[in-house]
Amino acid sequence: MTKPKVAICWLGGCGGCDEAVVDINEVLLRVAAAVDLVLWPVALDYKYESVKAMKKDEIVLSVVNGHVRNSEQQEIAELLREKSQLVLAFGACACLGGTPGLANLATKQDIFDWVYRDAPTVVNPNGHYPQAVSRVNGKELTLPELHGRVYALDDVIDVDYYLPGCPPPAYSIMYALSAVLENKLPPKGSTLAPHRALCDSCKRNQSKPDRMSIREIKRIHEVEADPDACFLTQGIICLGPATRDGCGEACMNINMPCRGCFGPVEGVEDGGAKFISTMASILDAESNEEVAGIIDQFIDPVGYLYRFSLPAAMLQKRRARNRVDTKEV
Ligand code: SF4
Ligand code: SF4
Repeated sequence: MTKPKVAICWLGGCGGCDEAVVDINEVLLRVAAAVDLVLWPVALDYKYESVKAMKKDEIVLSVVNGHVRNSEQQEIAELLREKSQLVLAFGACACLGGTPGLANLATKQDIFDWVYRDAPTVVNPNGHYPQAVSRVNGKELTLPELHGRVYALDDVIDVDYYLPGCPPPAYSIMYALSAVLENKLPPKGSTLAPHRALCDSCKRNQSKPDRMSIREIKRIHEVEADPDACFLTQGIICLGPATRDGCGEACMNINMPCRGCFGPVEGVEDGGAKFISTMASILDAESNEEVAGIIDQFIDPVGYLYRFSLPAAMLQKRRARNRVDTKEV
């Protein structure tokens, strides 16, 4: 019997998502026996040329992690899209842009200037910056071209399913793989995680008072957080009300608040905006001055609210529409 062909690929990411695939332990052996792995660069020596030689839709599933920041990543994403029946955006970087998406707060030129000129450890007396094409000893050398910003995978290609998390937990990977292999997939475009907020399953939820209100905002390192009480009631920012459930509460279990790696809850386009609305409903302030005083204690709101999702946020997209760099993709 012909086994379904599966590709696993890493675009711009930290490698943690590929590690997460290995974390399914012995199940990986069963998966490897059930499918024909045709690409997994981090683990085995496959060639993109072999994928290029395949027919359209020959691969049943491509599992793609990482964001798209340069021309090579874009080409690989487009190649896998052409050759695959299904594309799964795997992990926060592929689904939403991920933590590297915070680089969208700077321009490409800012980044180059810092990395190749201004950082204290840089020694670059001739002021060389990377070039997409260089000539050395009469030969032409090429490098991938950096795009003007970080893109989520579905900014570049059509995506069939999304598996969030930084990285996705092992049980959700197994669920996604078995859904594909057993042909029990939900409608195209679905996120393969619960359609409810993290607060709905959080053990600390029961500690919330009927009417929650906060008068100050504290950072997690400034206090000894009660391990049983809701972080928000302690004045510690926790994105649980605006974040999709399904992570297994790995952060909660080590007394760290949610930072939103599972992305917005179902039906919410912008998790950061949703959380701001939650905050507005629980601030205990009598005047605009008091509100401003509390909000001033919220250090680095973009870094908190869009840590994993800035490239996919509505604000980012609106801003990017006005910039020439969107023409790159
Ligand atoms: S989602 Fe997280 S673990 Fe996966 S590549 Fe991005 S930063 Fe790494
Ligand atoms: S805000 Fe955070 S700590 Fe509180 S119930 Fe929701 S997820 Fe749990």
